[in-house]
Amino acid sequence: MNNQTVAAAQPKTIALVAHDNCKSDLVEWVRWNSAELLKHNLICTGTTGRLIEQALLESEPDAQVHLTRLKSGPLGGDLQLGALIAEQKIDLLFFFWDPMQPQPHDVDVKALLRIAVVYNLPTANNRATADYLIASTLMTHPYQPRQTDFSSYLNRDTNR
Ligand code: PGA
Repeated sequence: MNNQTVAAAQPKTIALVAHDNCKSDLVEWVRWNSAELLKHNLICTGTTGRLIEQALLESEPDAQVHLTRLKSGPLGGDLQLGALIAEQKIDLLFFFWDPMQPQPHDVDVKALLRIAVVYNLPTANNRATADYLIASTLMTHPYQPRQTDFSSYLNRDTNR
């Protein structure tokens, strides 16, 4: 089944996630970029989403915020997001993960990072990359990331 959506110029579907020690960094970045982010559909893990929604409404009180909150990351939110990436329903991922603290859901974090690479998803794991992505001219163009041809993997001989 091919669930691939047609790449739209705008709005894009933007996923935003931050580990606890990185949440203030992401929220500050969201405030700085609120005008741009409000043009898009946002999808977040639970706690990150609550903070981002608050920040956007504080920055632009009359704005319509299109934000979907998944479960909290450690309760399955990272995996829900990974499933959406596998269905090619996400255009960009901003995931500020904490390089200094082990997480209870480390395996889910790894799964999310891995599936983002499998689907060649534009991903920012730190603020500098986030700045580059949000400033990209591709933000206003249709863009469908090129997908790896997995046919030889899918048709592999499993009887050997
Ligand atoms: P949270 O999850 O937004 O619910 O805190 C983030 C994560 O750790 O993946």
